[in-house]
Amino acid sequence: MLIEEKTDKCFTSLMTLYELDDLPKFIQLGGHVQDWLNIHEGILPARGRSIAPNSSVKRSIAPFLAPNYSVRLYVDVKAWRPLGWNLPSNGVAYGQCGHLWPDEGQGCLRVENHPEGKVYVRLIAATCFRASCPVCYQKWAAREAGHIEDKFKRLSRNNAEAAVPGYGRPVHAVISVPEIDAFLIYNNFDVLRDKINAIATAAGIKGACVIFHPYANEKMHEETPEKILIDESTGDFDLDSLREYYSKMNKHINFWYLRPHFHIIGYAPRDYDNPENDAFTPEKISSIHKETGYVVVNLGVRDSVRNTAHYQLSHAGVKKGFQTVTWIGDLSNRNYHKMNPLPKFNPKPRTCPECKAELAPVRWDPQAAISVQVFSVDNYSSADGLDLSEPGPSPLEGQREGGYWIDPGGWRYLNRGEKNHSCLVRKPSHK
Ligand SMILES: [Zn+2]
Ligand SMILES: [Zn+2]
Repeated sequence: MLIEEKTDKCFTSLMTLYELDDLPKFIQLGGHVQDWLNIHEGILPARGRSIAPNSSVKRSIAPFLAPNYSVRLYVDVKAWRPLGWNLPSNGVAYGQCGHLWPDEGQGCLRVENHPEGKVYVRLIAATCFRASCPVCYQKWAAREAGHIEDKFKRLSRNNAEAAVPGYGRPVHAVISVPEIDAFLIYNNFDVLRDKINAIATAAGIKGACVIFHPYANEKMHEETPEKILIDESTGDFDLDSLREYYSKMNKHINFWYLRPHFHIIGYAPRDYDNPENDAFTPEKISSIHKETGYVVVNLGVRDSVRNTAHYQLSHAGVKKGFQTVTWIGDLSNRNYHKMNPLPKFNPKPRTCPECKAELAPVRWDPQAAISVQVFSVDNYSSADGLDLSEPGPSPLEGQREGGYWIDPGGWRYLNRGEKNHSCLVRKPSHK
């Protein structure tokens, strides 16, 4: 009994120090830096590297370490498991994924409104938006994170991080699965989901988005992931920033091991006067742990729901036939409408970074430009000023996806009935 009391104390003090962001005291009390980072991710440290080994309380193990895994099962996450859990990007791309058409783009040709009389043309790569696609997974994560953000925004009628009456601000919590239940991820995932749902409810979570992580990685969290910049013209993630984010993150990827846990982003209203109704009270968290072995860690309110969601999606569990993002409680598909959300937002059209006009499909067609010059009676005086040399390839040949300011010659809007290639790649049909 005494040990239990002590461990509860140890658990509470370490968590308090974590919440106070006091790493030096956390270490003084016997916590390791890696443990700190693990708590940040809601991951249970491996046995033998526990938080507790302060000499005087050597035998007491904080309750959230009790479901410690006896083995660290390393996984080759780059190997595609057709029937199992994968990380994003380790599947197979479709032939068209990432393809660019340098003769086509979304553009603004209003040279009179642009500096130096240039036109703006954006090359857009073909994408399948699948989590498993090694070419398109970043776009999948970015788009999915946007959907998650929208669902919160439609309730707060403000930014996603704002409070909703009766619910408060969205928080990030992690529920870790004890070793004894880890096998559920293979053939009984629905059972595991139901358990998580029940545990979330017991912890005081009223409604949330749930992202499952089958694996953890010791190198993943040495640096706080940087925020991905938002492209002001679309409200979408900035492409360069997105690429840089992933290249930095991928540098850290080392060894992954099996350690199932669930990330929860949602509402867990606090009621400090009535502990019964309050979320994440030490009593609740500790009784959940005693009864089920599951560990609930509250990581607090979010600076950015979208960035948090994106980071969690970037190493989420992906499995054929299972949704990567699910919603529980009052945010579940069945209940969401009862919260009186705003209607779905329409996607914001891309606009010109200079004159803010909506971008329209454009095409590289130097021949057409010449024939207009030749046959326009108004402008025609002599052929001397015309460039009749062989029209070259698009100046965007060989460029990567993104927006470019270029000379206007050769670009035009589409004619009626004309269409650029669709950038959405679908599963090739095998006829
Ligand atoms: Zn793809
Ligand atoms: Zn413009």
